[in-house]
Amino acid sequence: MTPEVFLTSSELELEKYIQRDAAALLYGNAVSGIVISWITASFLVFTFNNPATDSFKYVWWCGLSLLFMLRIVDVIHWKTKVQHTEFDGEKAVKRYITGVNPTGVMWAVYLVFITKYNSSVELTTTLIAIAAMAGGSATILAAHKYTAMFYAFILLSPASIGLLLSEQNALKLLGFLGVSYSVVMLITSKKSADFTRNTLFLKNENKVLVHQMEEKVEQRTRKIYELSNLDSLTGLYNRTAFISHLETALASSAKPFALLFIDLDGFKKINDSIGHQAGDQILKQSADRLKIWSLDTKLLCRWGGDEFLMVLADTNENDAVDISEQLIEMLSEPHHTENSVLSVGATIGIALYPEHAKTEDRLIQSADIAMYYQKKQGRSTVGVYNEQMDELYSYELRLKDALTKAIEKQQLRLVFQPIVSSKNSRVVAFEALLRWQLDDDNIPPDEFIGIAEQYGLIHEVGAWVLKTACVQASRWSIEQAFPVCVNVSVIQLQDEHFISIIDEALSSSSLSGERLHIEITESVFAADTSIIANRIKQLQSRKIKVSIDDFGTGYSSLSVIQDLAINMVKIDRSFVNKLNTNGHAIISAVMHIASSLDFLVIAEGVETEAQAKELQKLGVHYLQGYYYSKPLEVEDVNSYLTQEPQKYY
Ligand code: C2E
Ligand code: MG
Ligand code: MG
Repeated sequence: MTPEVFLTSSELELEKYIQRDAAALLYGNAVSGIVISWITASFLVFTFNNPATDSFKYVWWCGLSLLFMLRIVDVIHWKTKVQHTEFDGEKAVKRYITGVNPTGVMWAVYLVFITKYNSSVELTTTLIAIAAMAGGSATILAAHKYTAMFYAFILLSPASIGLLLSEQNALKLLGFLGVSYSVVMLITSKKSADFTRNTLFLKNENKVLVHQMEEKVEQRTRKIYELSNLDSLTGLYNRTAFISHLETALASSAKPFALLFIDLDGFKKINDSIGHQAGDQILKQSADRLKIWSLDTKLLCRWGGDEFLMVLADTNENDAVDISEQLIEMLSEPHHTENSVLSVGATIGIALYPEHAKTEDRLIQSADIAMYYQKKQGRSTVGVYNEQMDELYSYELRLKDALTKAIEKQQLRLVFQPIVSSKNSRVVAFEALLRWQLDDDNIPPDEFIGIAEQYGLIHEVGAWVLKTACVQASRWSIEQAFPVCVNVSVIQLQDEHFISIIDEALSSSSLSGERLHIEITESVFAADTSIIANRIKQLQSRKIKVSIDDFGTGYSSLSVIQDLAINMVKIDRSFVNKLNTNGHAIISAVMHIASSLDFLVIAEGVETEAQAKELQKLGVHYLQGYYYSKPLEVEDVNSYLTQEPQKYY
């Protein structure tokens, strides 16, 4: 047979099928072959009595019967234990021929012995019987070529050669016939075996082809499954697959488990500033890290963007929190990408089954809400769902819906808080602050600005603020031509239409650029500074001044302030509040740097005379706070200005 190393996989598969069919054919013919052989042997042994040969014949018959018994046991084993299994055809064929070949040799020995002690009738009868068996074997053993040829040839040939060498012509003739018959049988059994193999080949070739087609179909089906169920970037399951796996888990699990909503921190910044390739690598590596922890990858998925979901089976709240903390640690380890080493964090929200929710949708939503609130509390931490979060969430959604109609329903208005010079308490500018009256409630900006940013409403709201602030400032009389400071969210600043919105606000109000100041909150530094720097330049080219709001609460570094050429810094009111303690040192440090980097400083939240005096002593340029005035309704600005100077120290 061709060595297996040279066969292709389909040839190997074909050979496997042929061998199995060959074994089935051989074993299928076995019983009739053995029975005929045994009857013939018994007939020959017990019909002719000759004292010279009887004892040999009896021993021989016993030996042959024993061999046949063993072969019958083998056939029974085959029929009961092997036949209907995925058996190894080659092994079965070998096993079968191990029984057949000794049978052939025994017959040959018998015949040789008989030719020595012949009685002519017995010899002729034996010869005819054995010749008939040799003829039959050509067909019965056709499934194994060499055994068929050996068997057909060995039965008659040794004795025939012996006869050919004898003195008697009659015996010589018998010998000649025997040898000729053996040769003919040799050729016939070869042809018969070739024919059988050919038949088996054709039969199985179709089978292999069908099998290969089936495999291809299966491969395609698998590919389609992968395309529709796996996330191509990370190789994790996608949303659809995860939901259906979770559904199955819920149907079969009575045990509690935890669902983790994992959101990477700082991913967007890397994606936006360093590029999508780096972002992709981080997502892939994060997915790989999560795989290590997931006992069942069916219950791990990329939910979308930089969000992953993972189920921790059979886990209580404490364990889930412990594991989540370890996950955060692992996800926060540095990522080595092609050109750099990058780090992200992760915030995790946990929902427990069945405690928090019993359906897959609710579970995912609860874990999502928990993550969302946790992120507001502090990044790279773990939060467990509770029912108040639901209330907060639906409150937020209500606000969001209401906010979309707030401009149209004229629920928004601006109030103006004066900013004064620390030297003489004279007003130098007004900060425009947004107010929203929803039915009877005043919703504080700290509550709704975040929602507006999150749901993309800030663009429309922000544009309205800019336009309205400019229009109202333009109505102030010439003596009161103070600048108006407008708060702008970083999201607005990043918008490519931002500058045209500014231009539109200025031109529609005819306000000059000098009279517009823009306040950007400190989170600016978490965003892509190149876009921000560009926008600031464009603003300054219009003579608009730019300040950093809530300085000290967020991310800013003073060097970035210098790089961005910021005009003013507004020290957060929390430091003014702490003037008696460490606020003093911090403000004094800021003043130092302000003088060397050449920017002006405003202190927010000045509530007392003492604070105002202290800040003035520290050299803070401008002051703002309730001590001077609460934010004023637009119609009150005028009267405030007329009574303002005498009020202060
Ligand atoms: P901000 O820009 O730092 O505004 C100052 C906030 O401090 C205002 O709160 C103001 O009313 C308050 N405040 C002023 N003086 C004092 C004081 O002496 N003591 C105390 N306790 N508070 C004082 P408000 O109006 O509630 O605004 C909160 C924040 O909402 C603002 O902080 C600003 O970040 C944001 N915001 C307000 N209006 C807008 C807007 O039109 N656009 C954007 N993007 N954000 C806005
Ligand atoms: Mg402000
Ligand atoms: Mg502020």
